[in-house]
Amino acid sequence: MNAFPIIDAHLHFIGNHPDSLAMLEEFNLKLLNVCVSHSSFKWREIMATPYRDLARRYPHRYAWCTAFVSPGFDDPDYAERAIRDLERDFADGAIACKVWKDLGMDLRDPQGRYVMVDDPIFAPIFEHLAHRGKPLLMHIGEPLSCWQPLNPASPHYNYYSKNPRWHVYGRPGFPSHAEILAARDRVIENHPRLRVIGAHLGSLEHDVREIARRMERFPNFAVDTSARLTDLAFQDPSVVRDFLHRFSDRVLFGTDIVARTPQDQMTPEERTELLDAARANYRRHLAFLGGRAPVEFQGRSIPGLGLSADLMEKLFFANARAWYPGI
Ligand SMILES: [Zn+2]
Repeated sequence: MNAFPIIDAHLHFIGNHPDSLAMLEEFNLKLLNVCVSHSSFKWREIMATPYRDLARRYPHRYAWCTAFVSPGFDDPDYAERAIRDLERDFADGAIACKVWKDLGMDLRDPQGRYVMVDDPIFAPIFEHLAHRGKPLLMHIGEPLSCWQPLNPASPHYNYYSKNPRWHVYGRPGFPSHAEILAARDRVIENHPRLRVIGAHLGSLEHDVREIARRMERFPNFAVDTSARLTDLAFQDPSVVRDFLHRFSDRVLFGTDIVARTPQDQMTPEERTELLDAARANYRRHLAFLGGRAPVEFQGRSIPGLGLSADLMEKLFFANARAWYPGI
């Protein structure tokens, strides 16, 4: 069904069952499993370890991206320890590192201020990644609708109505979308040798022209499309097509499928449901980006973008290989 191999450059998928591997075979897929570091769950146990094991066992199907723990502010050796952990993960096959939206939106310093991603405490870690040639996947900030009233027409209505903890509209004292992304942009600017991939269209999914502005400024910046197909579908197709052509080397396909249970521990019914949903997700991306027939988005029927075979191959495969060395 797809003429080229696909790399899904952003998801969370413990596909250790023969049925899962068969699905990957069908699409000729390789997956980049991404760790999310947060103090509220044991990400080393539930993500890093199974992701590492999958990449070891099925290196042609899986790669993994690690993360680092949030700072203890009374620890003068924080960055040194984080770097030591990263080095252990790189030795265990990790090809990249992720930072998450808790920086800027959740984590606070001892004075109660939100800790931004450009806080000097992280600079040695980012410099180390640049020096080691390991890319940084940055999920910093959220879609603009996180700061706006709930709106059923928004692509993000479902998420914020179910995750009110992350919906910050009307919360006084909360950093703005612009402030959070300015901190992110300063990291990209301050570490020009660091390769940065902005997850979820770089949290600028509401307008590809905003992404283009960053790409013009920062040659070390790319984005992945994970969980943001609807945002692309709801924008002017000619603007989206121009953007994808203009930055044809800097947009990476990803789905952000989240399936935390190891698939060999699911019931056959659960597994079939998950794998069928994954198949449908891959087909939908291929159909909307590569085809011209209408695809349904939140009750709206939107014609596919009909991107060229050459561009599809970059988006779905070659760009991930260029931005994630070793994948
Ligand atoms: Zn994700």
